[in-house]
Amino acid sequence: MAKKTSGTVSKTRVMKAKPVKTTKSSVAKVSTSAARSQVQKPKGPKPKPPKPWTAVEVVEAFTRFRSANPEPKGELEHLNPYTLLVAVALSAQATDAGVNKATRNLFPIADTPQKMIALGEDHVRDAIKTIGLYRNKAKNVMALSRLLIERHGGEGPRDRDALEALPGVGRKTANVVLNMAFGEPTIAVDTHLFRVGNRTGLAPGKTPLEVELGLERIIPAEFKRHAHHWLILHGRYICMARKPRCDVCLINDLCRWPEKAV
Ligand code: SF4
Repeated sequence: MAKKTSGTVSKTRVMKAKPVKTTKSSVAKVSTSAARSQVQKPKGPKPKPPKPWTAVEVVEAFTRFRSANPEPKGELEHLNPYTLLVAVALSAQATDAGVNKATRNLFPIADTPQKMIALGEDHVRDAIKTIGLYRNKAKNVMALSRLLIERHGGEGPRDRDALEALPGVGRKTANVVLNMAFGEPTIAVDTHLFRVGNRTGLAPGKTPLEVELGLERIIPAEFKRHAHHWLILHGRYICMARKPRCDVCLINDLCRWPEKAV
């Protein structure tokens, strides 16, 4: 009853209120104070950083990932180390599904750098035109194929520096190739892995490199080879950016995210 009364009163007051004149200076004042309120830091103590995972918890988490999926696989289709290198280079700012769709027609006719060069840049550009930044990526594919022939006898090198010296190949691409083509225990931090590392508190970091080094430090050797795929798949299908599926998450009891829905 009391609520109803006060609602009616405030409505009446609003209707009777005189219109407010808006001047340039009043608008300026409002926008300045609105902007100030947006940048104002929240009052109160800073939230505490999550408690670091213990070694036992890390082993527990990866034991669960391994039991659920003993041989995790990447989702980029490829025929050999060379086509893997090309596929990963094409996947920057694109989905694996989008890259696979484009390379399904390309790789069967160009599975070596020599064949790619023979095909020509126009053909490659046309084959990958459904992928973002395709013009630049086609140029890079041609340039990296040329360099592979000149410097590495047409083979993908098993060496980080040599890989990163190729056009369009950064640390993440090199890590994927070293891991998938050569079985090295590298951890390639993509957008999913970056989120999972930070959200769970497993390896918080402001940059992909910080997260990568943090994960390298805490993951025991026996899990390192597959850790990158377990965490990427976890981020892609369970710990999604907008609506993480905490209720079915294998590690929800270990996760440090204060907003987890369990
Ligand atoms: S509990 Fe939720 S937030 Fe934590 S890892 Fe699982 S899905 Fe992600």
